[in-house]
Amino acid sequence: MSVFDDLVGQEPVVDQLRAAVDAAALVVERSTQPTTAMTHAWLFTGPPGSGRSVAARAFAAALQCAEGGCGHCTACAQALSGNHPDVAAPVSDELHLKVDAARELILRASRAPTRGRWQVVLIEDADRMTDEATNALLKALEEPHPHCVFLLCAPSVEDLLPTVRSRCRLLALRTPSADAVAEVLVRRDGVDPAMAAFAARAGQGHIGRARRLALHEGARQERQDVLALPRSLQGVGSALSAAKTLVDAAQEEAVRLTQDRDVSEKASLSTALGGGATGKGYTGSAPRGGAGALKELEKRQKSRGTRTSRDALDRALVDLTGFYRDVLTMQLGTGSDLVHVDLGEQAATIARGTTAESTLRRIDAVLACRTALEGNVAPLLAVESMALSLRTG
Ligand SMILES: [Zn+2]
Repeated sequence: MSVFDDLVGQEPVVDQLRAAVDAAALVVERSTQPTTAMTHAWLFTGPPGSGRSVAARAFAAALQCAEGGCGHCTACAQALSGNHPDVAAPVSDELHLKVDAARELILRASRAPTRGRWQVVLIEDADRMTDEATNALLKALEEPHPHCVFLLCAPSVEDLLPTVRSRCRLLALRTPSADAVAEVLVRRDGVDPAMAAFAARAGQGHIGRARRLALHEGARQERQDVLALPRSLQGVGSALSAAKTLVDAAQEEAVRLTQDRDVSEKASLSTALGGGATGKGYTGSAPRGGAGALKELEKRQKSRGTRTSRDALDRALVDLTGFYRDVLTMQLGTGSDLVHVDLGEQAATIARGTTAESTLRRIDAVLACRTALEGNVAPLLAVESMALSLRTG
């Protein structure tokens, strides 16, 4: 067993990380200078779901573990669950990582590690750092504390400023094969092999997505709803209403995923404020501070909700791209494996009734919608425009 077991289909990256962990152990045990295998800043890139943050977290654990990432000691368990005192990882559920949060991390990075090994700073969404935050980080990367290691994760190197990425060792994760994903679903999650094979294909190399599909009936139903869209585009009216359904479903999913947390955060904040405001020596300034804190929390929650719903919508668009890819595969007769094996007949019907050129235009329309959403276009507007293009082809 090792902390790297959960990295699916990433052997070259795991080899590099193991070499770094060995080199890092020498630095800790013999106080030698870091060798070329170990360095102070790492950048993990890879498509969504390839496991870049899983890799970074496993590396953090391996650096803290006396046995190089055994996977079962306290240090490993704490680092993997996000509770190790020498592994700082900011919450990454907001749209942006701001400069205050970055400064706090950099301050942590400058402290000596409490357990004598490494002070690890893990930024899972380095691509969401504001420019100010990036500049603050850059200073820390230029003059790293000897016991500090920065682990940054981003979809691609282009998502970071050249000044930052030139200071990092690059680790590029690849999209794992469907077979590798299916294998891990069977081995680790006890999923039945047929379901694992289906979910791995439908997940298109996104391990977390594949696991959700394999384990949750609700996720499979949501996917069915999304993939019903290509069949519901007869008229302009039905295309627009399909667009609204898609956007609403993403928003509902976001509410479902975030509301419990929102409520409990508000409850604990008002408990904390209530205790302070009614105490002896109450001066009347507390309520103003309280209102400010509540407003700040609401702002944070709103940003998290927006991001969650955007992620859900993006996932739906990935499913749709996969569907039209299947249609194109049939039209071109390439014989490639289908992404959505269970919807082969529907794809075949559309393949017979349309041309490969129109399918390519449809795929472009879905990709354009994803780009528009990334650029903060109002979701309904972007999805409506996509649905109309999908209708005409
Ligand atoms: Zn361990």
